[in-house]
Amino acid sequence: MLHCADEPRQVAYRNFNLCPHCEQRGEDPLLLRMSECIPMISRSDGKNFHLLLADRPVPFPAERREGPSREFSVCFWYCLGEQKKETKSSLVLVPAESKGHGDLYREIESIADLLVKKLLERKKLAVLYNLQGNSLRELGY
Ligand SMILES: [Zn+2]
Repeated sequence: MLHCADEPRQVAYRNFNLCPHCEQRGEDPLLLRMSECIPMISRSDGKNFHLLLADRPVPFPAERREGPSREFSVCFWYCLGEQKKETKSSLVLVPAESKGHGDLYREIESIADLLVKKLLERKKLAVLYNLQGNSLRELGY
């Protein structure tokens, strides 16, 4: 288990497969995802919440036929306090900007950190965000 001294104290666990928060609640700690072929990007304080990347980044909008897509949509699942079956999801639109895959996943790591910050402040996340620079802007439908 990685422990990073530079991170805020509330995020003690990063990129785990077995969730310490679920384990503490007596639930199955294994985190399942829609796609297992992506790096595990997960966060938890080991007690109150977990957040993880649920699927590989999907070009957005999906139905766009011409030219490269301008954005990726990245889906996260999170669970705050409640039981694992109450897992909620939050979608983040990331500008594509000719990023290689390695860079994209590095960016997703920092998005996970931004989401955790919001989650701890507001006790929930919006359904949809747009990444602008280094911050997340909430989008309405
Ligand atoms: Zn958990």
